[in-house]
Amino acid sequence: MKQLTLALVAHDAKKADMAEFVAKYENDIRPFTLFATGTTGGRVMERCPSLSVTRLKSGPLGGDQQIGAMIADGKIDALFFFVDPLSPHPHDVDVKALMRLALVYNIPMALNPATAERLIESFRE
Ligand code: PGA
Repeated sequence: MKQLTLALVAHDAKKADMAEFVAKYENDIRPFTLFATGTTGGRVMERCPSLSVTRLKSGPLGGDQQIGAMIADGKIDALFFFVDPLSPHPHDVDVKALMRLALVYNIPMALNPATAERLIESFRE
C-alpha cells in the first residue's frame, strides 16, 4: 500500500497540544511520511525523538505556503493544522491560503485535536 503523507502545523499556543497529540497517537502516525512547519516539527521531534519529520520553513517565513504547494502538487494526504483562534497572526493570509488549498483539493484537514483524533482513527481501517 502507498505510504501516506501527513502535514503537521500548529500555531504557537497549540504547539504543546500538537506534541501531545503526536505522542499519544505515535503508533498510528509512525507509518505516515511526515512533514511539518519548522517550529512545529521541532517540537514534535523533541517530544517523539524516534519519529522522522521533514521540517519545512517556519510558518511565518513561508512554511505554510510550502505545505500549500505540496497539496497543490498532490503530495499531501492529510493536514493536521491546530489553529489558535484567539491570537492575531502576522501570516494570516498564508494561514487562509493553506486552508483554502486543502479545501480546493479536498484534503482531509483537522483544525483541532478533537477532529484529528477522529481522523487518525479513521486511517486505521
Ligand atoms: P511554525 O509555523 O511551526 O514554524 O511555528 C506554524 C505557523 O504557521 O504558525
